[in-house]
Amino acid sequence: RQLMARGLPKQRPMPGVKQIIAVASGKGGVGKSTTAVNLALGLAAVCKNSTVGLLDADVYGPSIPKLMNLRGSPEVTTENQMRPLMNYGIACMSMGFLIEESAPVVWRGLMVMSAVEKLLRQVAWGNLDYLIIDMPPGTGDVQLSITQSIPVSGAVIVTTPQDLALIDARRGAEMFKKVNVPVLGLVQNMNVFRCPKCHHETHIFGEDGAQQLALDLDVEILGDIPLHLNIREKSDKGQPVVVSDPESPEAIAYLRVAAKVI
Ligand code: ADP
Repeated sequence: RQLMARGLPKQRPMPGVKQIIAVASGKGGVGKSTTAVNLALGLAAVCKNSTVGLLDADVYGPSIPKLMNLRGSPEVTTENQMRPLMNYGIACMSMGFLIEESAPVVWRGLMVMSAVEKLLRQVAWGNLDYLIIDMPPGTGDVQLSITQSIPVSGAVIVTTPQDLALIDARRGAEMFKKVNVPVLGLVQNMNVFRCPKCHHETHIFGEDGAQQLALDLDVEILGDIPLHLNIREKSDKGQPVVVSDPESPEAIAYLRVAAKVI
């Protein structure tokens, strides 16, 4: 609030970008980045001819380079803008393209915000139907400053069915509501693990915990993503399931989320 009072930063539109969708989670490790990537690819698949960008605003732990199998530094245009790196038809920008993989990000809040601001503004995004933002986890100044600096059309909150994740997801959703960003809904990740051998279903992180939260927040569950080896393996290879295995039930689960977000 103090930072906002100091007038940092002021909301300005992103020219050429039609819809900005923030993918957020209260807690880390719940599958936010994996969802952001598969949602971006899902939107491009469901909405043919649409142009989609993906911004990794998780400056402390950028995972988009690995998930999208991208490395290298962006070219700089004559207008002094960074050109996004492309893979699978998605324009991507990440702090991971600008720093060494092993370099620790030891920045103060204001530096983080100015870095995020650069990733938003000093990038030649071109015309985009959708810009997906992989938000940093939590509900601090950086998250707030993003919602204050650009017109976010809606937020998708990723959570597991576990109590700890749900508590933080609620906080995340409340933050967006406070700053008048509509919460498009929840994605419940890792609700069920289906044994590939005997098909027995196990609810490792609890069962349907997000249902109650969705009711309380008066938002819908946009989709359920199973806990599946394929998702983890393909993510680690930089071949997200939506592009590498589009017929699989896991990919279809993400595509359903994309169809609801459109
Ligand atoms: P976050 O962005 O919330 O920190 P990530 O998307 O990086 O989380 O996911 C954390 C880990 O869990 C990664 O190793 C990822 O591959 C894995 N993961 C995420 N969702 C699933 C899923 N549905 N099934 C299996 N593994 C998953």
